[in-house]
Amino acid sequence: MIKRKFWLIPALLVLSAVLNAGADVTWDYPLAANLVDGKGGYLVLTNKSCLLDSDFEPHDLVTLKLRATNRGFQLRNAAAASLEEMFEAAEQEAGLKLYVKSAYRSFQTQSSMYQNRVERYGKDDNVVAYPGSSDHQTGLGVDILNYDWTKREGMTKSFGETKEAQWMEQNAARFGFILRYMPDKQEITGIIYEPWHFRYVGSEVAGYIMDKRLSLEEFDVSLKKAIADYENRGGDFVALCRELNAPPEPVILSQEGEEGEPEVSLFYQKTP
Ligand SMILES: [Zn+2]
Repeated sequence: MIKRKFWLIPALLVLSAVLNAGADVTWDYPLAANLVDGKGGYLVLTNKSCLLDSDFEPHDLVTLKLRATNRGFQLRNAAAASLEEMFEAAEQEAGLKLYVKSAYRSFQTQSSMYQNRVERYGKDDNVVAYPGSSDHQTGLGVDILNYDWTKREGMTKSFGETKEAQWMEQNAARFGFILRYMPDKQEITGIIYEPWHFRYVGSEVAGYIMDKRLSLEEFDVSLKKAIADYENRGGDFVALCRELNAPPEPVILSQEGEEGEPEVSLFYQKTP
């Protein structure tokens, strides 16, 4: 009788190996999986080889209540709230007044800006992003200047020498923003150095990117590689994120009173 059940042992071992597949695979990327799982769409990458659809439009745009060169600029909700904090901090901590020069731009707006530029200069000179490739279409990219620069015709890299640009570069990550187009990443991003253009990605990711001085393109490659490596080793990235995002275990409230007596005893009537 006992002998006949021996086959069960290897069968159970195989079953438990299958059920535990990936359980001992470690996620060894510097940022926790649930911080980079792309929820919220804050890590969306857009450039000339990674275009957004013409009908891509963020669903949670809000109008900014900030100093700006024009009325009605919009950003996605989380980016707008963080930008308000950043403007406040620039003023409180460093006495600097920042101005929004541009924020969300629809595909159609970007298209006409691009056409105008090409018609005016006879070619694409990489100053206005190709429709669908603009960081502004994500609703997470914003151009920020100081007062002096709002009066100028165009924007050039010398804005990077201003106190405002330097403060933003050093502090933006605290508020979830990165310097999207760094001077030494022009060949990777395909865009000139833009000391005025900041992009919301959330504060943990922003801290990492600014610390390592990465372009969003490099970050995207490293993240996709980390996910592929993890899955090749038997991990399940989606399951890992689900586990990390799961709400904490519910707390079972004790039925016991302070003295260890059942609460219900409070209702006992003393019998005379
Ligand atoms: Zn911009």
